Amino acid sequence: MDNAALPTQAHNGFFGNFGGSFVPEPIQKLLDELEVAFNTYKDDPEFLNEYHSLLKDYSGRETPLYFAQSFTEHLGGAKIYLKREDLNHLGAHKLNNVLGQILLAKRMGKTRVIAETGAGQHGVSTAAAAARFGMKCDIYMGAEDVERQKLNVFRMELMGATVHSVTAGTATLKNAVDAAFEAWMNDLDAFYILGSAVGPHPYPTIVHEFQKVISVESRRQIIEKEGRLPDAVIACVGGGSNAIGAFSQYVNDSDVKLIGVEATGKGLDTDQHAATMEKGTVGVVDGMKTYAIFDDDGHVAPVYSISAGLDYPGVGPEHAFYKESGRVEYVGATDDEAINALLMLSRTEGILPAIESSHALAEAIKRAPQMDKNDIIIVNVSGRGDKDVTSVAKYLEEHNRTLQS
Ligand SMILES: *Cc1c(COP(=O)(O)O)cnc(C)c1O
Repeated sequence: MDNAALPTQAHNGFFGNFGGSFVPEPIQKLLDELEVAFNTYKDDPEFLNEYHSLLKDYSGRETPLYFAQSFTEHLGGAKIYLKREDLNHLGAHKLNNVLGQILLAKRMGKTRVIAETGAGQHGVSTAAAAARFGMKCDIYMGAEDVERQKLNVFRMELMGATVHSVTAGTATLKNAVDAAFEAWMNDLDAFYILGSAVGPHPYPTIVHEFQKVISVESRRQIIEKEGRLPDAVIACVGGGSNAIGAFSQYVNDSDVKLIGVEATGKGLDTDQHAATMEKGTVGVVDGMKTYAIFDDDGHVAPVYSISAGLDYPGVGPEHAFYKESGRVEYVGATDDEAINALLMLSRTEGILPAIESSHALAEAIKRAPQMDKNDIIIVNVSGRGDKDVTSVAKYLEEHNRTLQS
C-alpha cells in the first residue's frame, strides 16, 4: 500500500449528509458485525497478503496503464492513458471487491454467500470467488434480467451457484436487492457480498477500500511513465465502485480533475436515462441516503441506459458527497455517444471496451481535443465489451447504421 493521503472517510457512516444505514433492526445487527470484522482485518498484514496475492495470481493484477497513442493521435489533443480494468479475470473491476469481501466472509467463519445482480457481472464474480473458496452461493436476480442475461445465468450455474429468479415488482435489480436482504435476514450464517459502492454503511466504505487498488496502481504507474500526476481522471458511474476506485488516491490532489460520467440514455429531455445526480433528488434508497430518481409517489423510479451496469436508480453516497462538495464533476453521455466511443476505441486501438466504460471514453473524446498536447487524461476502462456485442449489433441495426458508416 502506498502512503498517499487518505480520501474522505465516512464518519458514523456518513459522507457529509449522505450515506448512513436505514435498515430494519435484524439487518443492523449484521451490519454492525460486518463493520467490526472489516475494522479488524482491513489493515491486518496476513489478510492483506492473502488479498493481494489473489489479486495478482487469480485476477491477474496489476492491470496495465496503457498509453493509447493511436486513439490520442486520432483525437489530436491531450495524451490519453487507459487503466485496463478490462484485463482482470472475468473482464471487469468487480472481482477486486468480491475477493476482498469473500476473504472477510472467510475470516468471519461464514460458509455461504448471497449476492444481488442486475446484468449478472457481479453475480458471475461472486460465483467464481465462492467456487474458489468452497462456499455455497445464492444469487438473486430479477426475472426480467434472468431472461435478458441467459449467458451470465449459465456462467454462474456452471461455477456452482444457485440463481434465484425474483418475480416481485418490476422483476429487476431493485427487487433482487430486496430479495437478497430478505434471504440474509433469514440466514445469519450467510455473508452478503454487495457489488457496488452503495447500500447501508459499512458497504460503501468497504467497497471503496477494495476498489482503491485501481488508483493506488495508476498513481504509481503514471509517475513512472510521465513523472507527474494526470490532469484528469475519468470514470463511468453506475453505483460508483469503479469510479471511487479510480478517484480514491487523487482526491487530495486538487490539481487533478475528477470526472464521473453517468448514463443519459436517450437524453435528459426524455425519461429514458439513468442520470441520478443530474436529475435525481435526495432520499433514501437501498438503505442509504443519497441522490436517486423517485416517481411522484416517492417510490424509486425505473431508469434506463443501453448499458445494464449503469442502469441503477441511485448512486453511492460518497459520490453524492463529492457532487455537493464540488470535488468531482459529474457529467453525462448518451447511448449514442457511448456506442460511438466504443467503435472509435475498437478501431483505433483494437480494444473493445464495455458499453459502461464507453461512457467514460465519450467524455475523453469531448475533452481531449480542447486540451494541450502535454496534458494527460486517465480513463478507467472498467470492463471489456465482449459481453456487449449483441447489444451493439442491435443498436446499429435499429439506427440503420452499418459498421462502415
Ligand atoms: C458493473 C459495472 C459498472 C458499473 O458499476 P460501478 O459500481 O458504477 O462501477 C461499470 N462497468 C462495468 C464493466 C461493470 O461491470
